[in-house]
Amino acid sequence: MSNWRVSLSDLDYGPEEEAAVLAVLRSKWLTMGDETAGFEREFAALVGCKHAISVSNGTVALQLAYLALGLGPGDEIIQPSVNFIAAANMTRAIGATPVFAEIISLDCPILDPADVERRITPRTKAVVVMHYGGYLAGNQQLKELCDRRDIALIEDACHAPGGSELIHGKQVQAGNIGQLGCFSFFSNKNLATGEGGMITTDSDQLAAAVRSLRSHGMTTVTLDRHRGHAFGYDVPRVGFNCRPTEITAALGRVQLAKLAAGNQRRRELTALYHRLLAQRVPQVLLPFAGQAQHAACHLMPVVLPEGITRENVMLSMREAGVQSSIHYRAAHTMTAYEGMLDSAGQSVRLPLSEAYSSRVLTLPLHPRLSEEQVGIVVEALAAAVSGASGQ
Ligand SMILES: *Cc1c(COP(=O)(O)O)cnc(C)c1O
Repeated sequence: MSNWRVSLSDLDYGPEEEAAVLAVLRSKWLTMGDETAGFEREFAALVGCKHAISVSNGTVALQLAYLALGLGPGDEIIQPSVNFIAAANMTRAIGATPVFAEIISLDCPILDPADVERRITPRTKAVVVMHYGGYLAGNQQLKELCDRRDIALIEDACHAPGGSELIHGKQVQAGNIGQLGCFSFFSNKNLATGEGGMITTDSDQLAAAVRSLRSHGMTTVTLDRHRGHAFGYDVPRVGFNCRPTEITAALGRVQLAKLAAGNQRRRELTALYHRLLAQRVPQVLLPFAGQAQHAACHLMPVVLPEGITRENVMLSMREAGVQSSIHYRAAHTMTAYEGMLDSAGQSVRLPLSEAYSSRVLTLPLHPRLSEEQVGIVVEALAAAVSGASGQ
């Protein structure tokens, strides 16, 4: 699909995925059915929570999580600005207000619990934490803070299926920390089905709300009527169509079985990157150094030295056939979010998030990457950084 010598990510697909899709096609049942139910069961077991509800993508997972909690106009949702735009967009989409908070540090670009606490107002109804790059940090403090202040904690766990963090002496899986966990199975994620998403929760009530919102607010689903279990339905609340297909569920089950091995390979490659980068490009900062053991290692970010033009580094790496990317431009600097004021009426300033966003560079990382390719990337970065410094 690409001419890169080393591409940023790659699907880990084989004959198992092909067979799973073919079986669905031959079954002639294409929307939410047994494959979806099986995928939900298996995903709930991975996360260690009671409910997993499959939806059509990660963005609607966030939207339904907000709506299931009853969030809407007038409510504030504290969240990181260093995130993919979906969490902020869905906040706006439901009429609520995103309040951007600072990251812990340049080498731990995850929501800072102390800064979250400073930004709480009487309108704060939820906090969204994003497990950046598949790493988890600060969740014990966030959980205690949210519990104490009666605020919901939502995980944007799109980077982190299979990642976990030690909380009160227990290793807790991503998606089982807050009231609701949201996952994406977009093509470049650790578990990829093209499009797809999942919402996890231990709450029966939130699970019922999500299930209802997923399918028009209807009281029965097509499969029940097909099987003769139900003939009519009511619509007690307004909902959407965020239903997944059986094809994505079948792909998801095969991918789920590969997740642990894929994440382990990502950890090994991350360790190799860190070793080589420390030798060859000591000027770059390595976020999460030494923290891969329980991480999902979705991304391989480096922070470039100050004063280096990132675009030149990326161009130079492209010449060497190496794809790189930026995760992420800070949300509060996007045109649609420009000019936002904080609760004190000041324009939003997040110096650490802004510095991180302007200096971060994401290197290729996926389970099919070879050690030789890691070497190629490191050499390309070394040459690019020394070239850019000399200009
Ligand atoms: C991918 C992603 C999303 C959105 O998921 P989609 O399935 O693409 O809608 C949201 N948040 C984060 C952190 C992501 O990486």
